[in-house]
Amino acid sequence: MDKKLLDILVCPLCKGKLVYDKANQELICKADRLAFPIRDGIPVMLEEEARRLEAEEEA
Ligand SMILES: [Zn+2]
Repeated sequence: MDKKLLDILVCPLCKGKLVYDKANQELICKADRLAFPIRDGIPVMLEEEARRLEAEEEA
């Protein structure tokens, strides 16, 4: 994914910074414990599409 794009993307809920998970192709908001999917290189920044992180994934 484009690093510049990552820099301007924020969480749609808390407007916080996101962590790019390259292995899972997800953008993670640690504050909200949500993982937003990246489909075909395009981040899907919708709460309805986000996956809720499990407790063991928070570390
Ligand atoms: Zn957030």
